[in-house]
Amino acid sequence: MSQHISCFLDLKNCITLFFTNSSNTTMRVCWLVSRDRSCRRIKLPHLEMVVIGRGPETEITDQKCSRRQVQLKADCNKGYVKVKQIGVNPTSVDLVDIGKDQEIKLKPGQVLYVVNKLYPYTVQFLEEMGSCAGKEAAETRGEKRPQNQPENSGVESISGKRAKTEQQDDGSGYKLSDVNNSVSSCETSSSEKERLTHWNQGLKVSMKNPDLQIYKDERAVVIKDKFPKARYHWLVLPWESIPTLSAVTPKHLELLEHMQAVGEKIIQQCSERDRLHFRLGYHAIPSMSHLHLHVISQDFDSECLKTKKHWNSFTTKYFIDSKDVIKMVKKKGGVTVDRNVAQLLKLPLKCHVCNQQQPTIPQLKEHLKEHWPK
Ligand code: AMP
Ligand code: ZN
Repeated sequence: MSQHISCFLDLKNCITLFFTNSSNTTMRVCWLVSRDRSCRRIKLPHLEMVVIGRGPETEITDQKCSRRQVQLKADCNKGYVKVKQIGVNPTSVDLVDIGKDQEIKLKPGQVLYVVNKLYPYTVQFLEEMGSCAGKEAAETRGEKRPQNQPENSGVESISGKRAKTEQQDDGSGYKLSDVNNSVSSCETSSSEKERLTHWNQGLKVSMKNPDLQIYKDERAVVIKDKFPKARYHWLVLPWESIPTLSAVTPKHLELLEHMQAVGEKIIQQCSERDRLHFRLGYHAIPSMSHLHLHVISQDFDSECLKTKKHWNSFTTKYFIDSKDVIKMVKKKGGVTVDRNVAQLLKLPLKCHVCNQQQPTIPQLKEHLKEHWPK
């Protein structure tokens, strides 16, 4: 495999955002952001009624979704959106059906499913400067840019100096950058450019940052997960714009196999590879846009692993092994997930090694130490 992997060290993709503001006043703006697809975010002006449903704005083509499925009214001062189901089929918030002609408040962090527990959206309230015309235009360009057009084309950098990380070239077509550094803390601060990007678009920014790239070749790139859920947690991303697992078709088979091979190669570079067990796989419903393969050690020894959702997303069938994804694409032509898969995130906390149930995350973490390599 390694002889097929060539590396382009001269590739310098610098991600930037263009930001103009004519005045210093800030205003709070509400956005509806798709969680699983890379479609355009939808602006919800303060106290204005907005109706969404099947149509070009949401890119929903599902006949079960009415053209006028959900009515939304954002209150930017109070920080919530009133959601009313107008369509016949159920709209839900955090998987609880609203009911026809019923209204519910949607707050940041909650998930709105437009119809039948599908098409998840979240809301974001952002402070925006002045008229924000330049910023909105730039952000929208970023979301809907045509394939192969780099995000940085013709835009100006506002980011500060980049921290230099140590890099080494092992001569086998790999650009290695501290693969053996295990996780020590969670990063909570974000750079200015990340602050100006939607949270679910962050991988697209990170993957193009040379300082974060552990490996790259002509088809894929590897970065460290910014909030690693174990001692070693990397993400393998294709350069090709594939928004999510559900967009994968048989034409991507070779790419999926390549991504897995790259993940395995990265594990081989890890000094603890013989002591730790690793899994390579995808989340059934990813939260971040752009297809990404998780390569994660099974110690789950990380401060960033904080919630039941984190735990269950890596230890239940919500985590689909790369090999199974490839098999499914070969057999069925694509990846389908059970419509109730999100329920797996609510399962009781169970140790992934001995199946013992634990009442809380701290207790689970204490228990996990028993399984760490001595
Ligand atoms: P998911 O979409 O659920 O499969 O997982 C997305 C992963 O991306 C999570 O493990 C996050 O910790 C990680 N992540 C989020 N933002 C970034 C970022 N800007 N750079 C690298 N990793 C990120
Ligand atoms: Zn156990």
